Amino acid sequence: MDDSTKQIVGFELMQVSQASSSIAMEPLCFKKALEEILNEGIDVKVVTTDRHPSIRKIMREEYPNIIHQFDPWHVAKGFKKKLIAASKRRDCSDLAPWVRSVSNHMWWSCCTSKGDEKELLRRWMSLQHHITGVHRWEENGTEYKCFHQDLSAQEQRTKRWLKVNSPSFQALKSMMMDTRLLKDLQQMTLFKHTGQLEVFHNALLKSGTSNNSSWPSKN
Ligand SMILES: [Zn+2]
Repeated sequence: MDDSTKQIVGFELMQVSQASSSIAMEPLCFKKALEEILNEGIDVKVVTTDRHPSIRKIMREEYPNIIHQFDPWHVAKGFKKKLIAASKRRDCSDLAPWVRSVSNHMWWSCCTSKGDEKELLRRWMSLQHHITGVHRWEENGTEYKCFHQDLSAQEQRTKRWLKVNSPSFQALKSMMMDTRLLKDLQQMTLFKHTGQLEVFHNALLKSGTSNNSSWPSKN
């Protein structure tokens, strides 16, 4: 799907017999579709996919000149799931009231960093201060502060800030600083999401169940 027009510009359907396994099918199909678009002479600048390792490998090794981005929605959803699981641990129940804000914060960090990887990480990591009730801090001699407006004394008093030494904070910190996550976040700076494409897929699946002959055919 072309991001600016939301038009479907390529479509590949593959039989499992054409690949060695159903897992091998996805990268094969992806490559075929991308090649067809490139062969049309279309100048592809950015490709957004999920974080499937084999797709990452193809993009890294075979298309180094195309920017590869991930959909922030998928990543934020995955992170939220992990947070919910952690908040169910008896010693981490303090995390529960924060689940939604943390997931929103990831979303916000991606959509406001305007393509700047460092800025995205800085915004994301500012959470470790904010969530403990600290809104101004220093890092390598530079003073930083949260982007929100100053909180009232009452807000500051009543918010359920996490204590730095609490298991909840430690659990959150290790999840948010996870090297793989930090790496993925750097491929989310352009804030490309694929929600519209899922609408297309769902429509295809529906027409597929009601009437198989309406599937696009490739032979
Ligand atoms: Zn703050």
